[in-house]
Amino acid sequence: MNTVVNSVAAEGFGFKLTEEQEMIRQMTAEFADKEIKPFAGEWDIKDHVPMDVLKKMHDLGLTNVGVPAEYGGQGLDNLTRYTVIDEISQRDAGIGTTIVASSLLATDPVMVGANDEQKKWWFGRMLEGAMCGFCLTEPGAGSDALGMSTKCTKDGNDWILNGTKQFITNGGFAKQFTVFATIDKAMGNKGICCFMVDKDFPGVKIGKKEEKLGIRTTSTTEVIFEDVRVPGWMCIAGEGKGTPVLMETLDFSRTAVAGMATGIATGALNAAIDYSNERKQFGKSISSFQAIQFMLADMATQTEAARLLYQKAAWAQDNGLPFKMLSNMAKMYAADTAMKVSIDAVQIFGGYGYVKEYPVEKFMRDAKIMQIFEGTVQVQRMVIGKYLTTAGKYTYTY
Ligand SMILES: Cc1cc2nc3c(=O)[nH]c(=O)nc-3n(C[C@H](O)[C@H](O)[C@H](O)COP(=O)(O)OP(=O)(O)OC[C@H]3O[C@@H](n4cnc5c(N)ncnc54)[C@H](O)[C@@H]3O)c2cc1C
Repeated sequence: MNTVVNSVAAEGFGFKLTEEQEMIRQMTAEFADKEIKPFAGEWDIKDHVPMDVLKKMHDLGLTNVGVPAEYGGQGLDNLTRYTVIDEISQRDAGIGTTIVASSLLATDPVMVGANDEQKKWWFGRMLEGAMCGFCLTEPGAGSDALGMSTKCTKDGNDWILNGTKQFITNGGFAKQFTVFATIDKAMGNKGICCFMVDKDFPGVKIGKKEEKLGIRTTSTTEVIFEDVRVPGWMCIAGEGKGTPVLMETLDFSRTAVAGMATGIATGALNAAIDYSNERKQFGKSISSFQAIQFMLADMATQTEAARLLYQKAAWAQDNGLPFKMLSNMAKMYAADTAMKVSIDAVQIFGGYGYVKEYPVEKFMRDAKIMQIFEGTVQVQRMVIGKYLTTAGKYTYTY
């Protein structure tokens, strides 16, 4: 497994972004303030994926944050990648999800398990503008993802794929997919294979588009594989080697979701602070009431803690240190925080929080999926619980 290690120095644990990281953060924030924030509410109502904005983001490198330098990308470290996702999601978590799904979740199997030839194919197409999708979940296999039914059958040097994948982000427009399938369910974890699949391969079909509660600026569809012939060289890490690729992928991408959820919490909190200073009741700004200040204080503390957790998980990733537990903690805590903070923001807005003219009901709807996808928060608790009870004690990490 080619664990991703980037260049941040391992000594010390700093609380300040480097000059370059801060420059990228600011560039992302300025772009998102101008091109995303003013329109996100309208796109949400129309269930619209703004492909023109994604094209502009591609031109700035923002859709390809996961492409390493040796394959023509910017070679960003993980902390910078998740900071970009955090900033975008403060303005619209649907676009944050689109980028995470394409550039990180779908691409991480290539990062962690692919050979040079496979990486050249995958990353080369991304640089030309191809968006990507990650095909794991099935109608009958969600939390129990390894119980999948999609079959891969060897035919000479090729593989034939058959099955239906459910809830696939970017399904409506992705040009390439990473797909998990089983040789034989009876083989369990040892039967799982991971493939790169071109959307234009005969037999790849895009099925039902989902109507969603939140992140409505993303495309979520079924992806169906009917006798899809995949050349042998497109099998990542080799026959039956898909399970460790999947596990390492999820450990990386859960930190990206933590960045996204922290962005939602930040967006909702800032909207609530602004509103509380503007809104007057009983002749005073509601921000002067202690009840409101206490809510804001809790919301800000939880948001700060969520950001520190994902930054620490990213720091561990960038320094080649163990990060499984941190990544799961970061995703679980940030998802729960996004939900709580956005509900509290609606409360601070009162009746105006409940209507679409104001931004906070959208933050609340967008937050809910953070507790569900990339493993539910119950699954993260299972992973952390197992980790702790196997180790026999909790030890402060690093
Ligand atoms: C908008 C959206 C986008 C998505 N994008 C993608 C994508 O791009 N690619 C992809 O592959 N998938 C994607 N998913 C799928 C997502 O990851 C799954 O929905 C998620 O993992 C949960 O699976 P499930 O929906 O089948 O729920 P289930 O697994 O059926 O879970 C139902 C409930 O039971 C609980 N539960 C299940 N097992 C246990 C247990 N052992 N102990 C305690 N509680 C348990 C769960 O926590 C949950 O509360 C997406 C889903 C949505 C809605």
